[in-house]
Amino acid sequence: MKKNIAVIGGDGIGVEITAEAIKVLNKIAVKYNHEFEFAHVLMGGVAIDETGVPLPEETVKICKASDAVLLGAVGGPKWDTGSDGKPLQGHLRPEAGLLGIRAALGLFANIRPVKLFDVLADSCVLKNPGKIDLIIVRELIGGAYFGKRETYKDESGARAAYDTMLYRDWEIERIAEIAFKLAQKRSGRVCSVDKANVLDSSRLWREVVWEVYNREKYKGVTLSDMLVDNCAMQLVRDPSQFDIIVTENLFGDILSDEASVLTGSLGMLPSASLAGICTDSRTESVIGMYEPCHGSAPDIAGQDKANPLAMILSAAMMLRLSFDMDKEALDVENAVERVLAKGLRTGDIYRGYDGTKIVGCAEMGAAVTGEI
Ligand code: NAD
Repeated sequence: MKKNIAVIGGDGIGVEITAEAIKVLNKIAVKYNHEFEFAHVLMGGVAIDETGVPLPEETVKICKASDAVLLGAVGGPKWDTGSDGKPLQGHLRPEAGLLGIRAALGLFANIRPVKLFDVLADSCVLKNPGKIDLIIVRELIGGAYFGKRETYKDESGARAAYDTMLYRDWEIERIAEIAFKLAQKRSGRVCSVDKANVLDSSRLWREVVWEVYNREKYKGVTLSDMLVDNCAMQLVRDPSQFDIIVTENLFGDILSDEASVLTGSLGMLPSASLAGICTDSRTESVIGMYEPCHGSAPDIAGQDKANPLAMILSAAMMLRLSFDMDKEALDVENAVERVLAKGLRTGDIYRGYDGTKIVGCAEMGAAVTGEI
């Protein structure tokens, strides 16, 4: 299969980790007889330096024409202030590129797997974590972050502000579909999280999620509901009960950050932002952007210290979700697991245990490539 992949290395460690993911993908291409064509494009601080804007039009054009986008990370202290020493306005900062590309590609679903590898169990903040292997499916371009908002003074002169959490049925339908299709590729348990005991938008959320479930009859999938306050508690009490959590934007933002600490390091957390999902029955290409959850880590940039595994695992997500290459994705994930089992650790996951050794970003990438 031939696929065109846009690569946004970005800033800081972004360039180092995307280089390792490309090595892994090239090995997959050879082993499974695929052709991956990579187009390197500018975004973030490096784009500001070279073109004056964080998201050049050329980048949007190439990403839109690609089958998927791999993104390292953007941002860094160099671009926090302008040449006059004053803080840069939001739309001129590297991170504006990130929001811009999500909007331009219509990426409405954020998928964050939270998996604790057995060999890294000691890195988990929980005493007895059990098996942690869940995915949070977060609606990404609706709800309170995008609703009408205002800060004003009311009639009494008091300062007041509001944000509106608005959802339309089709916005809920399309994210629910993603969760159910994803569940069919896993153990099949979907938990829809809302605040239906209080919020109208949550009552609609719950109603529509069940409508989609009953209408489409997703084979092998079970659906349950949970209130968000309970879910926040259950995630640290017994995360092993969850397979797929689907929820709206604000709840998903908070729950996914809470869940992320369960894996031990930011350097282990991949993510995908999707405009749809590829399945056996659906052949058209579905654009997705695949990136680690962490930032550009300026404190370790250029020192070969970054953990490339979140980026490599994001590339595995791309194979599975945008290209429907389940076998290839599993091959990459198993290679990561074997490398960890052999004791290789980047600094962020090194705990000094016998049988483990610290390696750099390039050596870790080469080790994973070697295992495929
Ligand atoms: P960060 O995620 O870059 O770093 C936080 C800490 O985690 C640092 O100590 C860093 O060294 C460490 N770390 C992160 N990823 C690592 C990896 N792969 N291997 C080893 N250690 C790793 O967060 P920050 O320092 O708050 O932000 C730095 C810059 O990144 C800022 O400009 C911020 O706006 C930007 N940022 C970008 C994205 C993105 O591009 N998606 C996301 C978050 C932050």
